[in-house]
Amino acid sequence: MRKKSDLPQKTCLHCGLPFTWRKKWEKVWDEVKYCSDRCRSERKRHGAGQGTAEDGAHHGTGGKP
Ligand SMILES: [Zn+2]
Repeated sequence: MRKKSDLPQKTCLHCGLPFTWRKKWEKVWDEVKYCSDRCRSERKRHGAGQGTAEDGAHHGTGGKP
């Protein structure tokens, strides 16, 4: 007996909502951390989690003229 709803689930690291396995993720499911591309890109843009823009600005390693 197999249930169609018996799919793996994860919780989105950005919005915190649970999402279900999708066909398009079948090869990358282990790496999927966000429920959508939108959540993934927003997470990147804000740089929340590790290495904020603040950190980079402080050190000023980029050689600006
Ligand atoms: Zn999300």
